[in-house]
Amino acid sequence: MRRFPVFIVAVLAATGLSVTPANAQTPSKSKVEVFNEYGPQGYVAAPTGAGTRRSLATPAATVTPIEVNGPSDKRIDLVYLGDGFTEAEQALYATEVAYSWNILAQREPFKTYRKLFNVWQVNVVSHESGSDNDPTKGVLRDTALDSTYYCEGLERLICLDIPVAESYAALAPAFDQIAVVINSPKYGGAGYIEENLVTFSGGHQSGAEILPHELGHSLGDLADEYPYWAYPNDGSVYTDEEPLFANVSIHNAEQQAAQRTKWWYWAGENTPDGGIIDTFEGAYYHNLGIYRPSDNSLMRSLLKPFNLVGREEMTRKFYEMTGLVDSATRSNAPVREPATLSVTPVPIPTVSTRWLINGHEITEWAGRTSVKVAGKKPEPHPAQPWCGRRDLRVKGTCTYTVQVFDSTQFVRNPAYRDGALTSTITWTIQDKHH
Ligand SMILES: [Zn+2]
Repeated sequence: MRRFPVFIVAVLAATGLSVTPANAQTPSKSKVEVFNEYGPQGYVAAPTGAGTRRSLATPAATVTPIEVNGPSDKRIDLVYLGDGFTEAEQALYATEVAYSWNILAQREPFKTYRKLFNVWQVNVVSHESGSDNDPTKGVLRDTALDSTYYCEGLERLICLDIPVAESYAALAPAFDQIAVVINSPKYGGAGYIEENLVTFSGGHQSGAEILPHELGHSLGDLADEYPYWAYPNDGSVYTDEEPLFANVSIHNAEQQAAQRTKWWYWAGENTPDGGIIDTFEGAYYHNLGIYRPSDNSLMRSLLKPFNLVGREEMTRKFYEMTGLVDSATRSNAPVREPATLSVTPVPIPTVSTRWLINGHEITEWAGRTSVKVAGKKPEPHPAQPWCGRRDLRVKGTCTYTVQVFDSTQFVRNPAYRDGALTSTITWTIQDKHH
């Protein structure tokens, strides 16, 4: 919360009027996830920001590239902002951004897919250090993003001015996800679901753990695997239909196997968060009637890995955002022979290629990033067209196809492997002999 000038507060207090600006509008609200010391707890509606009291003129701040792995349209851009860091505290801010990104990059599947990300640090400078209601209620500080603890009366919930934060994030070349580091050792944070924005205290160990959980929602489209916070062990029963989320289900292991639905193909496997994949009752804000894939993954608690199901979903969603091809020979017009066809896959070790001519795989080209389309017909003339291959007797148009795919063990679902985990390019060859 930003301070009103002291004299206005004094006057209003003296006259007994409420502290409402003349042009105040009904503040819009946003769904935010709340955390306590142990992990995610539930959701509340929080105001998105003061709006009327703040200028939305383009803010000024420098942007530091932390890690740039490719063009933004083929990468997931993570943008860090800071609040409550003064000019003199910018080095501290940079240290806490580096710490947070390191926490993330050490955890799968971010570790393996690090090169699908770009990371930017917007150097937001605040007039004062810290945050509102930090460490105790009533302490106010003039900070750039107007962050505050005790949001909606909840001590650990850190809200801020969303439009202002978004205007700072827009200074980066692109943003898919905004992570706001709050300059405080007091644990807290928030996950803004619609806005793909996370707040967390940079000076607290568990603070940095909030970001990976929230990315499970925003990047992985994962459901929470915890029962609702306000009613622990209340016997609440889920009675609605099967949720669309991949990591919660009304079907137990037996039913999943029979119906070949949800995570049946992971059943019995060791999962990185401990134990095996099965159906554990209690998830998605209910204690009964709905199952999660593992005992205690990151979608249930902090400081935990994703389970196999979460990791698979994250991997698939990463590729839905980036594709598997960074660049390739143009395919939007026929290619004249002789020619070289090239493709540059995303730089992930398990990504490879296979090549096909008119749908026939050329096995000796597997793994290549370029192939030659021959221009001269061999003698004697075989059946036309010959598509540059003596061994292929084909009719009609020649097409060359490359499939770029990821054979990672993180993904088992065949529909994902053939879908999001494969990018296909087809070139039509202009046969000059016709
Ligand atoms: Zn959550």
